[in-house]
Amino acid sequence: MDVTREGVAYRADGQAAIGPGVPGLDAFGQGRLRALVAYGRKVFDLREGFESVRDKRREPKVVPALVAAAVFFCGLLRTRSFNALEPKLREKPFRRLIGAPPDGEVMGSADTLSRALRRMDVATVRRLSVGIVEKAERNKVFREGWHGALHTVAIDGWEPICSYNRHCDRCLVRHVRVEQRDGTIVEQEQYYHRYAVAMLIDERFDMALDIEPLLPHDLRPQGAAKNDEDEGELTAAIRLLRRVKQTYSWLQVVVADGLYPNGPFLTVVKQLRMGAVIIARKDGDEPLKEALSIWGKQPPHEVFDDKKGGERVELWDCRDVTTLSTYDGPIRVVRAVVTDQAQPNKPPHTWCMVATGVAAARLSSRQVLAVGRGRWHIENTGFHQWVTRWYFEHVFVHDAHAILAIFWLFFAGFNLLTLFLYRQLRSYGRDRGRDVTRTISRLIDEMNDDLARLDRSPWDTS
Ligand SMILES: [Zn+2]
Repeated sequence: MDVTREGVAYRADGQAAIGPGVPGLDAFGQGRLRALVAYGRKVFDLREGFESVRDKRREPKVVPALVAAAVFFCGLLRTRSFNALEPKLREKPFRRLIGAPPDGEVMGSADTLSRALRRMDVATVRRLSVGIVEKAERNKVFREGWHGALHTVAIDGWEPICSYNRHCDRCLVRHVRVEQRDGTIVEQEQYYHRYAVAMLIDERFDMALDIEPLLPHDLRPQGAAKNDEDEGELTAAIRLLRRVKQTYSWLQVVVADGLYPNGPFLTVVKQLRMGAVIIARKDGDEPLKEALSIWGKQPPHEVFDDKKGGERVELWDCRDVTTLSTYDGPIRVVRAVVTDQAQPNKPPHTWCMVATGVAAARLSSRQVLAVGRGRWHIENTGFHQWVTRWYFEHVFVHDAHAILAIFWLFFAGFNLLTLFLYRQLRSYGRDRGRDVTRTISRLIDEMNDDLARLDRSPWDTS
């Protein structure tokens, strides 16, 4: 009656059992790492995915497929640097894991990986990660959609890399005022890489969909954000959203934070025939300003107690606001005042959202609120986990091109692991009120133990 090493119980057939006290701890028999590789190989053609990666090196000693596999597992197994990875490249278990011939080519050093990544064809590594998500979609993994049965993508800005010292020729640069030890203020150059990121938001399957670097200010198109030393998140996010919809045509709704409830963004959403749920923060900005004046002192249109969340929620809903002059069409505005019933003396939290397109048409007021609040998935499951549990903020190679190639390989690892966790292990951390991040960390520890014991290739199909 051993429940688990990682908070999940398994039946003898390898499916996780819901509920404690079920025997069959090592149900996969051969370890989780081998099971993960088998899942990637059988369901997602992972081997072929690695083999389709290309780079522009001439006569490379190590083929791009092995470089891609090494970096993919470096991310997945949370190896903190290429220096830490380097000894593993010479060891048999890791060579078996990445499918290197046992006595064949030398895997080389961290430098070999860096050189290959600097010249890697980013489109081919992107295809590896996109291919995993697309295959899952074809297998109907996301069939149920999210609120309103809609497939929803969150878009947000992200800055994983920032430094005063180290930089490359494609770093973004800004001037910041820094207080010295003697109290004087000096202006210093700060170097950073910033991105717009798209993530599928789902009850369980939060998947990394796409990433777009922000360009330097002087490359920005006319009319983009001012006063910043990059082109601005919105400009990059619009490029990103167009590509995301082109890649994943089944996405229906975009959710984003208070930077986005503006005409240019909502117009692109409309052109792409998508809907939007966007957080609105500024009372003085249309269309929220108009909705607030219509609501005036009106009592809430709906009040309900969310027993599960211990909250009382008051909702106001206003359809067909047309006062945002830069957007041609009706906008729905929803306001929610949420009181924590456990702390009635605490001031309530107010949420305002604008909704357009299919999101405005199909979602109830409660659902608009749920989607707006659910935006945290991209910050929590995405950015927070990627920097605290993975090593996205570690500069493996300081080269803008290599960084993007690495992120795509890590995204592929993240997506495969997410699918493996919820489809194969069925350890519903979030659904069942467990700390899902810790559950995943234990799973990774176990996979690292499995690696040490890997005595034959997990890629053998015999
Ligand atoms: Zn840089």
